[in-house]
Amino acid sequence: MEHFTPQDFEIYDMHAHIFPDKISEKATLSIGKFYDIGMAYSIGDPEHLLKAEAQIGTKRMLVCSVATSPKQVVSINNFIKEQCDLHPEMIGFAALNADYEDIEGEVERIISMGLHGVKLHADFQKEPIDSRKSYKIYEAIEGRLPVLHHMGDYRHDYSHPRMLVKVMQDFPKLKVLASHLGGFAAWDEAESVLQASENIRFDTSSSVCLMSPERAVRMIRKFGVDRCMFGTDFPMWDPLKEAETLLSLGFNFEDYRKMFSLNAKEYLNL
Ligand SMILES: [Zn+2]
Repeated sequence: MEHFTPQDFEIYDMHAHIFPDKISEKATLSIGKFYDIGMAYSIGDPEHLLKAEAQIGTKRMLVCSVATSPKQVVSINNFIKEQCDLHPEMIGFAALNADYEDIEGEVERIISMGLHGVKLHADFQKEPIDSRKSYKIYEAIEGRLPVLHHMGDYRHDYSHPRMLVKVMQDFPKLKVLASHLGGFAAWDEAESVLQASENIRFDTSSSVCLMSPERAVRMIRKFGVDRCMFGTDFPMWDPLKEAETLLSLGFNFEDYRKMFSLNAKEYLNL
């Protein structure tokens, strides 16, 4: 089996979190607590992200932050935009919250700021991905902005893979990036209900590193190498370790090129 290193590829990280300096340490800690997982980095600010990504020469990275309350939406989006202006390698995804009073207005603002999509985290936001309130968001972004969905949890039922199937039926033009191979800790269900389709993509963050190599290969092949993209979930995991884990799965050079960059560029028109 041929062995590749991260340096053999142009790398796009399609799932990274950043927090403003002031709260980055607290926010990182609270995610670690939420998942009861030790975080690879204790501070998830832009500076640490760039340093971590430099280890594998990441060319571009999707950055996002979650609005756990509607009050945070505007300030997070201003922060993401500011960071993207400072660091052109960042691909900004905006925050939204189903309780935000002017979703349509904020979607217009997000598009005018040049951000590339929207990030939702049903478990942090305690809002099921197939709720009526979530549907208001999809109505505002369908055909305009892709949504990066956190998928799956073993304790809550806000982001179960089967709910995504319904959303995709009801919003046939909605582009969805289903994180964590479609279902963090709910991979049995993700594997059985999610299908590759024109508008869905998957990222490999917080999933490939938590399952057996056999399962990771099987799920990536089932969803399609053309539809899976490398992601790290920084600051939860270390980009170098994540890239090495993906590279240990034995895909061929062309498949890795797709997962490390080509699929991302095609999906987001970069
Ligand atoms: Zn995330």
